[in-house]
Amino acid sequence: MRTQVLVVGGGPAGATAARRLAASGIEVVLVERDLCHRKPCGGGIASSALEELGIPRKTPLRVVNTIRFVSPSSRVLDIPLKGGEILVVDRKAFDSLLRSLARSAGAEVLEAEFSGLLSREKRLKSRVLINGKPEVVESDYLIAADGVNSRVRSALGIKLPGYVFTLSSSVDSLSSDACEFWFGSEHAPSSYSWVFPRADGGGSTGGCSVGTGISAGRDARLFFGRFLKRLNISPQEVNARGYKVPLWKNGPYNEGKILFAGDAAAQVMPFTYEGIYYAMKSGEFAAEAVISNRLSLYGKLWRRRFLSRFRLMRTLEGVFLRNDSGAEKLFDIFGRPEVQEASMRLWLRKDASRGSLLSYINLFRKFLH
Ligand SMILES: Cc1cc2nc3c(=O)[nH]c(=O)nc-3n(C[C@H](O)[C@H](O)[C@H](O)COP(=O)(O)OP(=O)(O)OC[C@H]3O[C@@H](n4cnc5c(N)ncnc54)[C@H](O)[C@@H]3O)c2cc1C
Repeated sequence: MRTQVLVVGGGPAGATAARRLAASGIEVVLVERDLCHRKPCGGGIASSALEELGIPRKTPLRVVNTIRFVSPSSRVLDIPLKGGEILVVDRKAFDSLLRSLARSAGAEVLEAEFSGLLSREKRLKSRVLINGKPEVVESDYLIAADGVNSRVRSALGIKLPGYVFTLSSSVDSLSSDACEFWFGSEHAPSSYSWVFPRADGGGSTGGCSVGTGISAGRDARLFFGRFLKRLNISPQEVNARGYKVPLWKNGPYNEGKILFAGDAAAQVMPFTYEGIYYAMKSGEFAAEAVISNRLSLYGKLWRRRFLSRFRLMRTLEGVFLRNDSGAEKLFDIFGRPEVQEASMRLWLRKDASRGSLLSYINLFRKFLH
């Protein structure tokens, strides 16, 4: 099989890259190992992201207008989302929609698994398994969008990213009208736990997904169990799935004609663990670089748009998630309407200029001292 671009992985990063490439007339084959895969995920995404990327609201959605913070000492802070909303999507349906948009643009989408790189000379030769049968795909470029445990990264001998381990589950008996972030070292040291309403409904209450982020090396079941206890949920109601959230460093962007996108490049926002939007944008930027045949463009586009924002969030993560008193401080600062408004603007409208980022930093400086 021959194609100009092979995209490995049909999640948000891969499907967006394939759609953008195909729309500009480039021949593209996307291989996804499981077209019915439902990635463990809260599914929260700013509505502006769908508008920006031209994604119709076709799949099941929950519209959320409030962010709720719960502090280690159980203080509760509700932040209204002015000027935007969060959509909670069902990942199985959402990823499938993104792949169907890629297909409509002209990409070939196959249920197949990338299993190794045979050659990188002149053209790339990849081994893929279709119905378990090995085939060779030759391509000029490869976009690795195969997630946090990227086989492509491993095939190239590039270390997998560091990660926060998560345990999460659907809980039918729980309902919420907000995206809730729960802080406290008792259940989520240096991280947070969450309760998100579910897009696909469930039980009589609509159901929620609940989860906990646990730094690598800690006993995940112990901490998740403590969070469930805090929510009064019995372990019998839970079917926990473990998954990694990669920790952003800076790149990698590409290794020759192989470009990394989304979780395979660890492009998840520090502090919030927001990855769907950034996966889609990195897929789009990687595609732009291929279209213009200027691979360095990928890193440039990404850095220009997101680097300052990622650095800022990593700094805030260090300040507020370090310990319980840091998390309590977060509440004091977020109690102020001007901080709430500035934060929500920044979060919901991803196109914030450098100037507004700077005024945001100054706002935090003012309240931290
Ligand atoms: C518990 C949890 C909750 C989260 N909640 C949110 C949230 O609310 N909002 C948010 O924005 N982000 C959230 N994230 C992060 C978000 O899920 C990811 O950042 C996002 O899915 C990354 O998209 P991706 O396309 O890069 O990778 P993925 O979504 O992981 O997609 C990779 C795809 O590649 C396929 N694949 C893997 N290996 C191969 C192979 N060898 N051959 C072919 N196909 C392959 C997989 O089947 C998969 O479909 C959460 C993450 C976790 C773990």
